[in-house]
Amino acid sequence: MIKEIYASQVFTDKTMKEYVSPAHIEEYHRCIETGKSLPMETANAIADGMKKWAVKMGATHYTHWFQPLNGGTAEKHESFIEPDGEGSVIMEFSGKELVKGEPDASSFPSGGLRATFEARGYSAWDPTSYAFINDGSLCIPTMFFSYSGESLDKKTPLLRSMQALNKQAVRVLRHLGDNQTKSVTPMAGAEQEYFLIDKDMYVLREDLRICGRTLFGSKPPKTQELDDHYFGSIKPRVSAFMKDLETELWKLGVPAKTKHNEVAPSQHEMAPIYSDCNRANDQNQLTMNIMRRVADRHNLVCVLAEKPFDGVNGSGKHNNWSIVTDRGENLFSPGKTPAQNARFLTFLAAFIGAVDDYQDLLRCSVAYAGNDNRLGGNEAPPAIISVFIGDELQAVVSSIVTDSNYSGTDVKPIKVGVDSMPLIPRDTTDRNRTSPIAFTGNKFEFRMPGSSQSIAGPNTMLNTMVAEKLRQIADAMDKGEDIHNIVRSELLNHARIIFNGNGYDKAWIEEAEKRGLSNLRTTADALPRYLTEKNVSLMEKHGVMSRTEMAARDEIHIEKYCSVISIEANTLMDMVRREIIPAVSLFESILCSTVAGRMQTLSADIPDVESALCRKLAVFNSSLSELVEELGKKLETAPPATDYKAAKYYREEVLSLMESIRKVVDEEEKLIPDKYWPYPSFRRLLFSV
Ligand code: ADP
Ligand code: MG
Repeated sequence: MIKEIYASQVFTDKTMKEYVSPAHIEEYHRCIETGKSLPMETANAIADGMKKWAVKMGATHYTHWFQPLNGGTAEKHESFIEPDGEGSVIMEFSGKELVKGEPDASSFPSGGLRATFEARGYSAWDPTSYAFINDGSLCIPTMFFSYSGESLDKKTPLLRSMQALNKQAVRVLRHLGDNQTKSVTPMAGAEQEYFLIDKDMYVLREDLRICGRTLFGSKPPKTQELDDHYFGSIKPRVSAFMKDLETELWKLGVPAKTKHNEVAPSQHEMAPIYSDCNRANDQNQLTMNIMRRVADRHNLVCVLAEKPFDGVNGSGKHNNWSIVTDRGENLFSPGKTPAQNARFLTFLAAFIGAVDDYQDLLRCSVAYAGNDNRLGGNEAPPAIISVFIGDELQAVVSSIVTDSNYSGTDVKPIKVGVDSMPLIPRDTTDRNRTSPIAFTGNKFEFRMPGSSQSIAGPNTMLNTMVAEKLRQIADAMDKGEDIHNIVRSELLNHARIIFNGNGYDKAWIEEAEKRGLSNLRTTADALPRYLTEKNVSLMEKHGVMSRTEMAARDEIHIEKYCSVISIEANTLMDMVRREIIPAVSLFESILCSTVAGRMQTLSADIPDVESALCRKLAVFNSSLSELVEELGKKLETAPPATDYKAAKYYREEVLSLMESIRKVVDEEEKLIPDKYWPYPSFRRLLFSV
């Protein structure tokens, strides 16, 4: 059954063979390999085949499906119909329409790359990711760029970074004696965490609806303390959702593989089988989209925010990353022969060196308001970037770096290119869950990306950083330097980024500072590091982004950060003013009438609980009202969201005040019976399904 439905809604190579002639298919593959543009004749033939297939599958529309800089996806649907001149229509779709579209999407963030009077954005077909049918439309994965050719999306830099990595990695492989590998591809497998909340309950929370996360709420008596949810048995309603989700994903060719409960109540995870970064990114976008839609069918809401409930485990998107050759060899697999080990150690050293050199850039790639609520908490990676390699590999690295005997035995020091290494056992490498980047046997697991985030950005950075380090290594090899010395000096110079201890430990923060590692706690701290000369020159050198393209993104990041906080602050004020303060007052008045009644019937020597409670609530309410007025003023006097100072203002002035307000609200919530409290509590939200 899976075999029949799998990729049934995808225009795969196999499907293409049924609709397009072999000569055109050959031409199409040749163009992909050489990067040359498709002859119109071939484009027409493919477009016609796609249309015939899509119409047969019941599709009526097509759309250029692209990924604007807001991190989501966008589509503008056109129907296939063309008038036939006799009062009826025919279904048409030409090569021109396939290859280039003009969505005229002037309201997507472009960071000043397009003035609105020349608002046209153009999209160009990405033939390296399959077209698919979603909701009655043929979706054509596309890049999106401005009239003058600057990229306005997340896909274009990702594709460029994959090419950059390919180029440098092949250079290094040649030096290592590999004359057969034609190309290498960075691979990604994104584990997607999410919450499922009952829709009836969800709609009652203004904060969840508008901001995607709750802005207050006291912790329920039980959340994850008993560790009874992680990998626990899946409830029937959740299981029905998961089955439905898998079926939809399989039809779309998304290889959904693993599903399980996560740490927090109502939290779950879905992991697909990895694929090249570009497809993995497209598929992850599609996954988030389908998750929301399928949840709705089950009267559930799929919450993808990084930290929807304070005090409860947050959601991330672990990005597993590796480099694989066209012959299927994983360059991060420790091998069995000295040659394979030389290759493994070279790529390992390149990765470690790259992460150390560009730790700030990598940190920036996961910096946004939602992720700030999660990173650095005691269940998510710290904001400090480091790499965990595990004890076995550490022993190898130490032997190389210090020329000491491997593992303290009388075996001699390891010589890269001469010796083979002992086998690194796979499963022992995954134990450290506190590390932001862990080596897990044959890949690196980057755990900082947030659950709602596009993985395009983080992968673009990983690809480009490692490409640069490989370039340096290849250049050194061009000059005849010895591979052992190259690997050794990389590992020696970048030893500080390796950390195998507990990342949640307070002592690590001090230790990291001593090592000179960055600790960019919030987005407001990280953003100023994005546009440094070092980062701009990295991106320019490898043709991934121009300075202008980076500056545009910088502008968007700042603006987005400030506006997310501003929307949250306004929502919080609204909820407190219109619902919470009045609800507490109402309960106070009930307490007051109880007190009045009691004075007539009971003697005065019985302690009066109601008066005390009423007084407490009155004090909370009055400080709440003052704080909310203050927040209103802070928002009125906020600087325009155009520079780092504005981001800092929102972090220091607005967000911190929101945190103070939250504390008071949470105290009130603890004292008010559910029936007077205007919003469903965490207790009800988290145990609703
Ligand atoms: P776990 O992390 O739970 O041990 P796995 O290691 O099997 O589970 O896989 C987690 C994710 O990593 C999956 O999405 C998987 O497809 C992906 N993955 C596995 N191998 C690679 C690889 N070589 N490159 C990139 N991603 C990979
Ligand atoms: Mg994992």
